[in-house]
Amino acid sequence: MANLSIFKLKSRNLWQFLIFIILGLFLFLGISLLPLQKVEAKDISAEIIATNNWEYASFPVETFRSYSSPFGYRKSPTGGNTTEFHKGLDIVGPLGSYIRNWWTGQVVELTDNTAGGTTIKIQSGEWIHMYSHLMGKVVISGNSRYLSDPEGGIELWLGEQVESGARIARIGMTGRTTGPHLHWGLKYAGKYVDPGLVLQEMYKGQNA
Ligand SMILES: [Zn+2]
Repeated sequence: MANLSIFKLKSRNLWQFLIFIILGLFLFLGISLLPLQKVEAKDISAEIIATNNWEYASFPVETFRSYSSPFGYRKSPTGGNTTEFHKGLDIVGPLGSYIRNWWTGQVVELTDNTAGGTTIKIQSGEWIHMYSHLMGKVVISGNSRYLSDPEGGIELWLGEQVESGARIARIGMTGRTTGPHLHWGLKYAGKYVDPGLVLQEMYKGQNA
């Protein structure tokens, strides 16, 4: 009897030990996979960028001042010591100056109730290009909606087809922002791409 109870104790300890090992492995895998997500975004950028033809692409702002924040991890501009992934490129221009459509496509989303403020999403094949902190607001009309910025002469409808280089909005300060700039985001096949790399390729292609 005494021998049996010792055996039970040992087997229970063994199980606890195994469970700890398994939990530990999951934790280790979870932590070591986190940085892989960062790398993935960059690798995909380089691969796609090299295989595109940039002839018809337009620089997204009419009056360029500077770049204020690149794509990638950064210290949060609003909160203490926290870091965040900045999913686009911030381009500074004068308040109220025009934004130009990067690539011919269709307006697939218009919103004005997130941290991005008034935002346009345009789809061009596998690409989605996003423009945030714009002037104006979204107006619901029947079953549809449009971006309304009357002072800028802008009325952009959901579902509308827009040409590359067309004026689609103006630089504003809507949403979470500390100064007038365009937050420009790009996605290819559902994955974020570094807009800075895209701009570099556009210049190479257009000056060739
Ligand atoms: Zn931004």
